[in-house]
This record gives sequence, structure tokens and C-alpha cells, in this order.
Amino acid sequence: LNTRAERVSHDLREQEFDALLVSAPTNVRYLTGYTGSNGLALIAADEDVSDRFFTDFRYASASAQQIPEEFEREIISSGDLFKAAAQTLSDRGSGARGRLAFEEDHLTVAQHARLAELIGEGWELVGCADVVERLRAVKDAGEIDRIRAGTELAEEALRRVLERGLVGRTERAVAVDLEFEMRRLGADGPSFPSIVASGAHGALPHAEPRDESIARDVLVTIDWGAYLDGYCSDCTRTYATGAVGEQAIAVYELVLRAQEAALASVRAGIGARELDAVARAIIEEAGYGEHFGHGLGHGVGMEIHEGPRLSRTASEQPLQVGNIVTVEPGVYLPGDCGVRIEDLLVVLEDDHETLTRLPKELTAVS
Ligand code: ZN
Ligand code: ZN
Repeated sequence: LNTRAERVSHDLREQEFDALLVSAPTNVRYLTGYTGSNGLALIAADEDVSDRFFTDFRYASASAQQIPEEFEREIISSGDLFKAAAQTLSDRGSGARGRLAFEEDHLTVAQHARLAELIGEGWELVGCADVVERLRAVKDAGEIDRIRAGTELAEEALRRVLERGLVGRTERAVAVDLEFEMRRLGADGPSFPSIVASGAHGALPHAEPRDESIARDVLVTIDWGAYLDGYCSDCTRTYATGAVGEQAIAVYELVLRAQEAALASVRAGIGARELDAVARAIIEEAGYGEHFGHGLGHGVGMEIHEGPRLSRTASEQPLQVGNIVTVEPGVYLPGDCGVRIEDLLVVLEDDHETLTRLPKELTAVS
């Protein structure tokens, strides 16, 4: 199976679908390369039926460059794309019928109603989840290269920002500076809103940067990533702005130990829950279990959070070669401080490649 669309076709045959209407923009881009805002892909289960791509006249020339020849491209001058897709299905011979899968996590209720009205009696609309997402969870060499490049860019941006210091600048100013540096280095943007959280604010795992100045002698958690060439990166480091207390140092060392134990276990075949448990056991044993409230990590790719998830409630599905995942344990002490350390890794057969390279020993940045 050579192309991504061919792999989707194969999965559709296994699930006894006749076609899949791909409406989620990220999935459309993954299958076709289309980067515009109004596109639909119709993937046929039957290899002898060609796959179709629909867009409107605004994207006629862009899509001519982006869409590979295996797709029949249809440019709609009036009406909507769903109507064109339904027309394609009914054109497939008189009494055309079958099971049309739609992406149940993405199609809106209104779009579903519209599709049901357009599709004609012979076709049954069946919701399905994750057909394209499952493919996206396993990255090819080109995707790994892009995420590696985004990671290097994000790290270079942070180095430049840290050279300008942290103490006395607001969290928001540091976050904006970081996003500006990433753009200046060639990123299309941040892969998510950057987190810069100092002191007690660091005890919120998803803290938003405030207009508060960063004090001396506190911990600062910075969680950021670059969006480059359609792919995200993700990394977290926690710095000290001077002399921090014994407890903060102890928590830092604990999180680092848990993170490194989990990293050492990352390879194809290990279960997502099992991996989460490696880090969690160490944090629980030290008496901080209740302060590690989130999962160990998540897949990263075209979206910042995608499969596979690493958590206590993750699927039993083992990691596969080509998964790109974060390992990011944290300990959050309300009203006091927080520590999170996050690396981004490629899962290999008996090992992993760590994409993030910034040092992890507790470093003072004033
Ligand atoms: Zn992160
Ligand atoms: Zn993350």
C-alpha cells in the first residue's frame, strides 16, 4: 500500500464501508496535501474507483498544485461541497448504494443533517472514528524530519529568550518574546499558546501567562512548541530564577527521576498505561501521587494532542515504531510551586530517539 489514501481504502474494506467522507481539515491535509480552508475528500474502498477531492473556485490554482494525481479534483463554483460529494455518489451507476462512513468526531450535526438529505435513499450514513487519525499516529521519515526541525527551532528560540533573562519581565512578555523568536526563526507560529508560569502560578498545569513580573528565587515552567511545515513540536523545561528552597529542589529531582525512568522504557511494544505507570509509581512512592494529576504524555504531529495517549486510562494498544510522543510528568503543589519536564521522542523498535535536546539539570536563569 503506497499512498495514505490507499491505506485508508484498505481499512474501509476491512470495516465493510464503501467510502469515507473526510471533512476534518487536518485529515484532508494529511491525505491530499491541501492546506486551504474548504476541502473535502471522498475515499473509495474499491481500488478501481478513484478518490475525489472537492474545493471551491477560490482554491482552484492552489489545489491544482497541492493535490496529487491519484485524486480526481472537482472545483465547485456554486453550492456546497457536500452537495457535490453526494452527487458523485449518486452518479456511480443507477441505484448506487452502500455504506458511507463519516468522521463522527468532526462532522457537525447540521452537516450530518444536510448530508443525510442529499445522499439519496440507497446510501447509509455510518459514523466512524479515527480511521485517518490511526494512520497519523505512525509517522514516516518525512514527518519525523519536520518535527525534528520544529523542535530544533523551538529550542533555539528559547535559548535566545533566556539570554535576555527572566527576572523582572512579565510572564506574558516572556511568552510573547518566545513566540516572536519562533516566528523570526521561520516557524509558522507557536504550536499552542506558550505557557510561562512562575512561582505558585506554576502549580497550574495549564497556566496562562500573566502580566505579573517574574520574581527572583522561584521556579518558572515554560511549555512551548513551534508550528512548522504543518507539524507541531512540544517541550517543557522548568528553571530556577536563583536560590529556590529545598522542597522545590527535591520536587524537581523527583520529577526528573520519574521522567528519566519513563524515557528509559520507551520502545515499540510497551503499553501506554504501562509507561504512565513507570513514572507514576516513582512519584507516588515519594508521596506526591495526588499532585501528578494529568497523564504522562500524548502523541504529537499535525496536531499538538493526538494519538497515542499515555495515561492511566489509555487504550491497551502498545506503542508502535514511528509514534511520536511526549513524556511529561509533573508535580504541582497548590499555592507553592510546580515542576514539569517534557521531552519529545520517536518510538523505535527497541529504543527511542529523543528530539528535544535542552539540558535538564536544574538551571538557574536570573
Ligand atoms: Zn508541552
Ligand atoms: Zn505536551
